[in-house]
Amino acid sequence: MNELYEELLNLPELEITHVSVGDGQIDIWCRSRLGAGVCPSCLKQTKVVNQVQERRVQDLLISGRAVYLHLESRQWVCEDCGRHFYERYSFVEPQSRMTQRYEQYLYRRCIGVDLQYVVVQYDHSWSVINRIFQKWSARSLSEVNLWGPVRALGIDEIALYKGRGNYACVLVNLETGQILDLLEDRTKDFLINYFQARGEAFCNQIEVFSCDLWEGYVGAAEACFPKAEIVLDRFHFFAQLQKALDNTRKALRRACPKEENLKGLKWTLIRPAQHLEADQKAQLDQLLAQPQYLELKQVYQAKESFRAICEEEITPQQAQTKLNQWCEEQQALDHQFLNVFLKTFHRWKKYILNYFNERWSNGIVEGINNRIKMIKRRAFGFQIFERFRLRILVEFAQIH
Ligand SMILES: [Zn+2]
Repeated sequence: MNELYEELLNLPELEITHVSVGDGQIDIWCRSRLGAGVCPSCLKQTKVVNQVQERRVQDLLISGRAVYLHLESRQWVCEDCGRHFYERYSFVEPQSRMTQRYEQYLYRRCIGVDLQYVVVQYDHSWSVINRIFQKWSARSLSEVNLWGPVRALGIDEIALYKGRGNYACVLVNLETGQILDLLEDRTKDFLINYFQARGEAFCNQIEVFSCDLWEGYVGAAEACFPKAEIVLDRFHFFAQLQKALDNTRKALRRACPKEENLKGLKWTLIRPAQHLEADQKAQLDQLLAQPQYLELKQVYQAKESFRAICEEEITPQQAQTKLNQWCEEQQALDHQFLNVFLKTFHRWKKYILNYFNERWSNGIVEGINNRIKMIKRRAFGFQIFERFRLRILVEFAQIH
C-alpha cells in the first residue's frame, strides 16, 4: 500500500511510513531515504545523528484535500568540523512550510487574477500568497533572457495612477512585442544609468530605438546606443499636428460660439478622411468649402497631406523631398498653430525622417497599454511600484 502512495507522491527521497486520510486533509508520515548528511561547511558526509525532529510541510492537494507531509528531520553532526545541521530535502527549502511544487502551484494560480482570489480559494493568508507570488515571479523572470536578442527597442510612457500625473515608462522589444521592463523614472540621467548597467554588448546591439518627442529619451539613446538609429514614433509626432488642427477648431468655436456647424466636429476632423462615413465626409466637405472656414480647411488639408506622405510607399529620400515641400507650403500660410508644429518638426526632423528607413513605430505599445490598464483594474495593492512591475513583467512574459 505504501509503495502505491510513494508512487503517487513522487518524492523519491521519502519513504512513507504511515498515511491518515481524513475528510478535509491527508497526513503522510515519511522517513528520509538519504543515508547520510552532507555538512554545509566542509561538504564531508556524516552519519552521526544528534536528534530527530518532525517537520510539517504542506504539499499539493490530493482529490481536493490538503496534504501535510510529516517529515523526519534529523539533526546531523559533522565529525570533521563539529557543525550541527538539519536534514535537507531537495523538494522543500529550509524553514519553508510548503513544498516547492506546492508554492509553484499557488504561484501559477495567481497569474491573471487578483491575489485575494487565491487567498480565498486556497485558505492561506494574503501575506503568504503575496510572498509566494513575489518569490516565484522574480525567480521565473531571472531564468528567462529577455534582453539577449533585442535589436529594436521601443520606449513609451504609461499612466500609472489616473489623474495623479504619475507616469512610468515601458520598454518593449519591438520585434517580438515582449515587455522588457517597467521604469519608474524617465529622466535622461536615470535612463543612461539604466542602459549602461545592462552592459556594453547590449548597448552595441541596439540598431533601432523608437520613442516619443522627449529630450530624455533621445538624449539617453544618443549617449548609450552608438549603433542605433533613433526613430521618433510617428503616432506621437503626428499627434502634434492633430493638436494644431484641434487648436484651430477651438479658436473658431470661441470666435463663433453660436455656430451649430462647428459643434461635435473634433473627431471628424482628426480621423483619417478615408475612415469617415460617406455622410460625415460630405458634411465636412460642405463645411470646409465655406469661405469663413478657409483657415480650418487649410490646416485640415495640411494634416491629411502629411498623413498621406507617412503612409506612402516611398524611399527615405523621396519622403524627405515631399516633407520639405510640405513644410514650404505650410510656412507660406503662416498659420499660428501650424507654425508651432513646424517648429517641432524642424527640431526633431532628423529623427522623424528615420521613420522612413524601416518604418518602425511604437504602435504595438498601444495594445500593451490597454492590457496594463486591465491588469491594474483587477488588481489592488499596486501602490508599490516594484510589486506592480513584477506583476506586469510576469503576466506579459508568459513564463509561468
Ligand atoms: Zn563539517
